[in-house]
Amino acid sequence: MNEELLFRYLFVAIYAAFFIVRIHYRLQSIRREPEQRYQAEATKILYIAIPGYFISIVLYMLAVPWASWSQIGMPSWLRWLGVIGAISSVPLLAWTHRTLGWQYSAELAIQKKHALVTTGPYARTRHPMYLTFIMFSFSTAMTTSNLLVLLFAALVIVPFPWIARKEEEMLLETFGEEYREYMRRTGRFFPRI
Ligand code: SAH
Repeated sequence: MNEELLFRYLFVAIYAAFFIVRIHYRLQSIRREPEQRYQAEATKILYIAIPGYFISIVLYMLAVPWASWSQIGMPSWLRWLGVIGAISSVPLLAWTHRTLGWQYSAELAIQKKHALVTTGPYARTRHPMYLTFIMFSFSTAMTTSNLLVLLFAALVIVPFPWIARKEEEMLLETFGEEYREYMRRTGRFFPRI
């Protein structure tokens, strides 16, 4: 099989695996009615970034001739590195979801009887799920070697530091000193050494 075709098959397979995990937990979260919802202004960037990202993926998948300029010649090893990163994101996503349990919500929210989670991936970093999204977006984009997909993947990542900051304000308001102490021993995205 030609390598380009192999990358496309791998891209679809890894995306499907990631989304199956995501949809499983997302469906569970829909049934929960949170106690309080919060809004992070930065999520508005996603209204442009996410559709743009998916359109660029469709253009890549269909190898649309007028968008062929966006196919850049990235070295094969870099694309394989993307495959490894993308595959690793799937168990990481499942792990963070399993650990966060019913405290998870797609939007910023405090659930009824919300408890602070500080175990598993949350023991060292405060936003392992966002880190997984960032890793997944970049890794999958790397496997495509497509400039449009890479640019929109970068745009998808842009709001996460702001969302994380807003989320921390919300959790500080809710958990006070317990969260402040948790912040002292953890990193925002990367573990504190
Ligand atoms: N930012 C986290 C969680 C994303 S899901 C991550 O990247 O892993 C978003 C929800 O998780 C928020 O609405 C918030 O209420 C909840 N949350 C985030 N960190 C939490 C923690 N340490 N304990 C309990 N709930 C948390």
